[in-house]
Order: sequence, then structure tokens, then C-alpha cells
Amino acid sequence: MTLFKADNLAINFGGIKAVDGVSFDVEKGQVFTIIGPNGAGKTTVFNLISRIYDPTEGKLMFEGQDITDVAPHNIANLGIARTFQNIELFEHATVLHNLLLGRHAHRSGNIASQLLFLPSVRKAELEHREKVEHVIDFLDLQHYRDTYIVNLPYGARKVVELARALCTEPKLLLLDEPSSGLNTEETEDMAFWIHDIRNELGITVLMVEHDMTLVNEVSDRVLALNYGRVLALGTPSEVQSHPEVIKAYLGG
Ligand code: ATP
Repeated sequence: MTLFKADNLAINFGGIKAVDGVSFDVEKGQVFTIIGPNGAGKTTVFNLISRIYDPTEGKLMFEGQDITDVAPHNIANLGIARTFQNIELFEHATVLHNLLLGRHAHRSGNIASQLLFLPSVRKAELEHREKVEHVIDFLDLQHYRDTYIVNLPYGARKVVELARALCTEPKLLLLDEPSSGLNTEETEDMAFWIHDIRNELGITVLMVEHDMTLVNEVSDRVLALNYGRVLALGTPSEVQSHPEVIKAYLGG
């Protein structure tokens, strides 16, 4: 079943076609990865999906619904969460507070209307805490639960960012370069978490990634971009052996 569809997406920045007629389908339960050399348009595709940019052309579909005109803050409410290439956490708050804030930002709705129903607010609060504690256990973050982000090693911050996205209970998780800044061992751990997020939580993952070891370990489908256009789409080995992809990576 198709969960997400990009149909002929395009965006221009001045004279540059950063994304030029990109189409792909992500099936429910897949790990789908976008690869490509620097400047290929990968992050721009992510920014189009999270509605940070409006496409010049094309359509975005999620669960059969056209989301091309949905506002960015409503994208999360539909069940799409993302992490960023550069970590965006509140550094002077604990892991627990970051996760609670992340969950509140997406789930609280209209505070004024909630204040009229205090008992239900308390119930919702308990549910938020339960979900956050569950994610802390799932990603083995108990040890860091009350640590301030500023005191965390970089690898642990990446896992907290992942946790924050999971706290919103997404159906589609967008990961922007999950291995960036991680060493080999931390990248292996990241592969393990992505694997478990798909297999145990049943969450569909769409990611941008440079590290081909991680791509090969976790991806069902790979899309290769260059100069904003699709070069190849298929299994990790099909895409990596595609002549156009080899040429793009070798700079030919
Ligand atoms: P990297 O792997 O280096 O992160 P990328 O594949 O994610 O690269 P993008 O960041 O999507 O590539 O950039 C694609 C092209 O669009 C580049 O030529 C870039 O300079 C241009 N671009 C991206 N965002 C903007 C913007 N806001 N304004 C102007 N040009 C932009």
C-alpha cells in the first residue's frame, strides 16, 4: 500500500532547478532512502515534503490525501515527523523535557479550550508522559533521561532527536542524514535503531543519507538524485550498479 507519493515535484531558486520533475512512491512499512552527490537536491526534497518550501510544480500525497497545500505545522498532525541534518534540540533542557516539549508541540492543540476541561488535560498529560517514557525505554535512553542536552555526547544527541520525532507517533518518519557526525560504531547503532523503528514500531522511514554502509543495511528502496533529477530507483544494489549513478559519483 502506498503511504506517500511525490508526483513530478519541482522547485526553482532563481535560475537554478534544485528539484526537477521528481516522482516516487513510498510503500507503507518501507525504509526508502534518497542518495546523491552534494547539491543533488536531497534536502530540498525533504523541505518540500515538510512544506518548508512550496513546489513550483507537482503534488505531494499522503495516505491518499493531497497535502501539497497543507501548512508546515499541520504536517506533523497528519503523522509526518522529521529530524534535521543539524540537530535542533533545546540545549539547556533535559532529555525528558525535550521529549515532552516535542510531544506537546504536536499534540496539545488549543490550550485555551483545554483549560475548560482540566480533568481531560490531566489525563492527556499522563498519556504524554507514558508515551515519552516508552520512547526513552525503546531507544535505551534511560541513562540520559535527566541529563541536559548540552552535557550529552553528539551521538546521544542524535538519538534524542530521533526520540523526539518518535514521541509524536508518526506514520512517516523523515530522517535527514541520520549518520552525519557519527563515528562507525554510532552509525551501526543508528542502523539498528532504524531497523527496529520499522520492524517493531511499524513506522515507514524516508531518509536522506550519504553513508552507503548504512544505506545498504536498512534500505528497501533507494532513489538516486543528481542536479535535481532522478537518476535511478530500485534496490540498493540495483541503484549502486546503475551506470548513471556510478558516473555521478565519480564526477563524470
Ligand atoms: P548536500 O548533500 O550537500 O546536503 P543536497 O543534495 O541536500 O546536498 P540541496 O541542499 O537540496 O542538495 O541543494 C540543491 C541545490 O539547490 C543546490 O544547488 C543548492 O545550492 C540549491 N539551494 C538549496 N536551497 C536553496 C535556497 N534556499 N536558495 C537558493 N538555492 C538553494
